[in-house]
Amino acid sequence: MQEPQINPWSSTPSLDIEKTFAEFGIDPIAPVLPELPEIPYFMRRGIVVGHRDYLPIARAIRNKSPFHILTGFMPSGHPHLGHLMVMKEVVWHVQQGGSGYITIADREAHAVRGLSWEKCDEYGKEYLACLYALGFEGQTYFQSRNNRLKDLAFEAATKVNFSELSAIYGFGPDTDLAHADSVITQVADILYPQIDREPAPTVVPVGVDQDPHIRLTRGIAHKMRMFTVEERDGYISVRSKNAPEATMEAVKKAFPHAKKYEGHVDIKGAQCTDVKAKVREIERAHGGFAFFTPSSTYHIFMPGLTGGKMSSSIPESFISFHEPEAMVRKKVMSAITGGRMTLEEQKRLGGEPDKCSLYLLNLFHMVTDDAELAEIRRKCTAGEITCGQCKKETAERVVAFLNDFREKMDAAKDRIRI
Ligand code: SF4
Repeated sequence: MQEPQINPWSSTPSLDIEKTFAEFGIDPIAPVLPELPEIPYFMRRGIVVGHRDYLPIARAIRNKSPFHILTGFMPSGHPHLGHLMVMKEVVWHVQQGGSGYITIADREAHAVRGLSWEKCDEYGKEYLACLYALGFEGQTYFQSRNNRLKDLAFEAATKVNFSELSAIYGFGPDTDLAHADSVITQVADILYPQIDREPAPTVVPVGVDQDPHIRLTRGIAHKMRMFTVEERDGYISVRSKNAPEATMEAVKKAFPHAKKYEGHVDIKGAQCTDVKAKVREIERAHGGFAFFTPSSTYHIFMPGLTGGKMSSSIPESFISFHEPEAMVRKKVMSAITGGRMTLEEQKRLGGEPDKCSLYLLNLFHMVTDDAELAEIRRKCTAGEITCGQCKKETAERVVAFLNDFREKMDAAKDRIRI
């Protein structure tokens, strides 16, 4: 069994982001940002740092052309502040014109974490309430109740074998089939907006630990296509190993200067993007899966309050949305900070905000104003504020945020359908 470098179910990875990006071919997002008409705070502040093929999404936003945004949540516990970033990314993309999709990965929670279906429903509804509280508009579904999704997962499963899953996820002889099935269901989730609505660029915001799902899905999406379209020496070649004769003929007829050969059609005097769009239309009309290869963005992780990763299995490391106020204050006041050992050192050397779980909590969610955040950073590094005072101020922000957010979650409950 080949051991994968990153794995969506591990609770431990503290990854060297640059090394991981280089190893898995993830690109830094900064060069793409000028394409966006407006740069959201999570990209501006260096929270979302990487991508695969985000350019078509940025251009779709700029040109107001169709695109989809999808993400999924495994309902294995109560949602908490660690889940908020992906939710905000989805909502922002919907506000930029994307059609939004949320999948509740109850099949994964049942297969991988052994959760009962009742618990999956309970937690899944909480995730949806959070999304609606943030202003989400779009489609939501539970995997176990979506039969079109299951049919698509079956089709996707014809394009992958167990050796490939082992290489990507480290599956071995003891891996049960439901776990493998839940992976294929997630592949189907990522492709689902393109069969539910229309083929269009689709972006999936994830943490880097979820990249195996993205890589697998991109490979399967490619294999499910009938055609490849490539520019070669002044002409465009549309190739297929499996398209029926009538479909190849339809491609030839669509272009005035096309010539049809065994397994390919060559076209002169056309734009590659126009050929791709037309071929996709023909593929779809002839019963094929005209998928755009999915795109993804990657965010850094907000550290847990105890240091390390924010994890549902370490209650002190996170703050859930229904945490009692006294507990919220206690957790914030006990959090690991970037403060020095003594007050004298703190004043002399200043704190280390980049190592501070509370500074990062403010950067991710609690301080929306850039100037206010910069002032917190300045006072910290200049030694002008003690961690005790800073903790108290952060606790006030978190309590105010949660009070407001809980009200919005309660107001959203009627919108939840399963
Ligand atoms: Fe963190 Fe605030 Fe202490 Fe700086 S002063 S290390 S930001 S708690």
